[in-house]
Amino acid sequence: MSSYHLTTFGCQMNEHDSERMKGMLEALGYRESPQRDGADLILFNTCSIREKADTRLAGHLGEASRLKSEDPTRVVGVGGCWSQSMKERVFQEFPFVDVAFGPGQVHKLAEFLTSDSIGAQGYFEFEGFTGHLPARRERRFQGWVQISVGCNCVCSYCIVPSTRGREVSRPAAELVAEVERQAAEGVREVTLLGQNVNSWGRDLRTGEKATFAELLGMVDAVEGIERVRYTSPHPKDMREDVIRAHAELASLCEHIHLPLQAGSSRVLKAMKRTYDRERYLDRVAMIREMVPDCAISTDIIVGFPGETDAEFEETMEVVEQVRYDSAFTFNYSPRRGTAAAGLDGQVPHEAKRERMGRLVDAVQRISTERAQRFVGRSMDVLVEGPSRTDPSRLRGRIRHNKTVNFTGLARPGEIVDVEIAAATSTTLAGEEQLRVA
Ligand code: SF4
Repeated sequence: MSSYHLTTFGCQMNEHDSERMKGMLEALGYRESPQRDGADLILFNTCSIREKADTRLAGHLGEASRLKSEDPTRVVGVGGCWSQSMKERVFQEFPFVDVAFGPGQVHKLAEFLTSDSIGAQGYFEFEGFTGHLPARRERRFQGWVQISVGCNCVCSYCIVPSTRGREVSRPAAELVAEVERQAAEGVREVTLLGQNVNSWGRDLRTGEKATFAELLGMVDAVEGIERVRYTSPHPKDMREDVIRAHAELASLCEHIHLPLQAGSSRVLKAMKRTYDRERYLDRVAMIREMVPDCAISTDIIVGFPGETDAEFEETMEVVEQVRYDSAFTFNYSPRRGTAAAGLDGQVPHEAKRERMGRLVDAVQRISTERAQRFVGRSMDVLVEGPSRTDPSRLRGRIRHNKTVNFTGLARPGEIVDVEIAAATSTTLAGEEQLRVA
């Protein structure tokens, strides 16, 4: 039986696609090799969101090249956004690669592996939903459901529309059937996935049309599903009915990821984010009103071309005003083929580094303060496994998407009450409330 080794880079959509790639390969009779040098088929599911991703990949490809020269019968394949952004150039720059495919072409890998093709093959059309392929889930009780592919936005710093194509939504009936299947397989928490998840449904045919809030209601109604999450939403599509769904649907978790990117309306305009600071803060105010205990997380880019010190201060003001539970912070990184890469006013590295330092300090201080609201409360925790820092303890997640390390007897997949005793910016600590039979 041939073996494969798959390395995944990047976002949750790539994690989802890799689960599907593994499911497809195992349906073809492949088995997973824990080590790359033990595999007949060496695969990479790549990311291209920032320069750092390309540099990291180059190192891994170097090792694949060495392993291929040691055993030329090995097959090397590269999928994902970087592969899509490079297309045929993959073979010119990395001649040891046998097959390259974009995020919309994972199923073509099976075609290539079962064909008697001798030459290198590239597949770069936006054709299918990896969500149609069998999945080999990393966690038995947590499942991804891809509800759409692609993005119709044109954020000037982002490469995703060119690597994942236009938005295409999967019909609600198909999605509900998939969630029911996952529930029957033991999944208790589903995460709905899309590049722009809350614009789902706009492109569906008449008769199939539904809103994202309606889809959340349909998924909430599926027997066996205790928790529903979604990522990544866009503030422009964070409509009142979606926020209300968080207050009304029992399984929809009290966590909303609302990417800000920048606090200055001028910078947001230059980023082509289609909302301004006021619109963003209006959405936050609506969340705070309808779901007072909701956790809000975000993405922030530091040092977008032309960002002045004063405009960065506007980002800091929004951070202080919103008081995020957590934030992913990035230094602006020019991506070839994006509009922003050619903009004047590229911010010097030293200025980015100074701004990033201040931003991280503020985010950490505020997320630590925010986390104190859980201390002394008994919280529902979905148990994920042993603690990563202390194997004698357990690890799980509250509905607010915060990790909890706790003492207890629960098993992975169970939802138990945990009394929270302490909190830091990233994790909570506590003790399982054992139920007396
Ligand atoms: S919404 Fe903007 S940042 Fe997000 S994937 Fe689409 S283009 Fe990229």
